[in-house]
Amino acid sequence: MDIKFELVPEDQRKPKPNDPLNLDFGSAFTDHMFSMKYSDDCWHSPLVGPYTPFSFDPATLCLHYGQGIFEGMKAYRRGDRVFLFRPEKNFERLNASADRMVMPQISVDFVLDSLKQLLRVESDWIPQEPGTSLYMRPTMIATEVRLGLRSSHEYIFFIILSPVGLYFKDFVPVGILVSDKYARSASGGVGFAKTMGNYAASLLPGKEAAELGFSQVMYLDSHERKFIEEAGTMNIFILFDDELVTPPLTDTILPGITRDSLIQLARDSGTTVNERSVSIDEVVEGIKSGKVLEVFGAGTAAIVAPIGTLFYKGESFTVADGEIGIITQRLFDELIGIQCGEKEDRHGWVVEIS
Ligand SMILES: *Cc1c(COP(=O)(O)O)cnc(C)c1O
Repeated sequence: MDIKFELVPEDQRKPKPNDPLNLDFGSAFTDHMFSMKYSDDCWHSPLVGPYTPFSFDPATLCLHYGQGIFEGMKAYRRGDRVFLFRPEKNFERLNASADRMVMPQISVDFVLDSLKQLLRVESDWIPQEPGTSLYMRPTMIATEVRLGLRSSHEYIFFIILSPVGLYFKDFVPVGILVSDKYARSASGGVGFAKTMGNYAASLLPGKEAAELGFSQVMYLDSHERKFIEEAGTMNIFILFDDELVTPPLTDTILPGITRDSLIQLARDSGTTVNERSVSIDEVVEGIKSGKVLEVFGAGTAAIVAPIGTLFYKGESFTVADGEIGIITQRLFDELIGIQCGEKEDRHGWVVEIS
């Protein structure tokens, strides 16, 4: 398929944000987007065109039944060099989400090439101050006009771009509410897929946590409310003495690319990493006894988010005096250094756009 280009005339392009570090996450968008359509069992009409609203019939399937999936990834710029981080993993995961939601597969190679073409057009939009990046949101939605419940026969896939600063303005430990009321996902469900409904379902727990002054919700397993799963939209890591632990990937956990990368980086530096079930009781006991040294979340938006306090069943538990842990800081510095092309990329994760 040949991509068509319809570019916005230079004099009609939007001004670039003048203070990218302080941008509100996902509030500014670039001049162009990539899109393609699916009908009659194939993808067609790939376009790099103006960033522009869609117009939908009110009976469009995704508006009713949430048949939609997305990805979140970042591009970094240093001078004229632009870097992506393991981008094929995002498109492979999009295909895994598509599979669960009965949506069509995309060609990873074609979409990655399309993304690179879009980024070449939009390279001036990629901020380069330390801490900034261009957030990219590939999305697929069901566009058939129909209220009868079945999977759509028509889809749009698009990628929009948004310059962003740091997700958490300061790299300081946050407080999280461990919910024994809500669950994020259930066994047999869609927790491993980046599908829209999961995020709608998390809004009420998030709102209740925010009202109590917490920035995230930590979810436990839906069956027993015993084992820790994820913190908001981040995977979770706990350092017990010299063992770094993260819950194993089951169908209730989103397989984070940051999670996978941090596991490898921690192992590279000689840390023992175990993917095993961890009960909230083990964490609370470990915090009390001093065995739990560090807790952090991991995801593309924040990369690494140090967690200072857990609030569980009416009690507050502060990890290591609420300081940023040594391993937390080291993994953050290492990963962000690799992502923006400043540190050696031993695993061949970084893709440079030329
Ligand atoms: C996207 C996401 C993550 C993090 O995945 P990354 O690939 O590291 O960005 C973790 N948990 C949930 C629920 C997510 O949606």
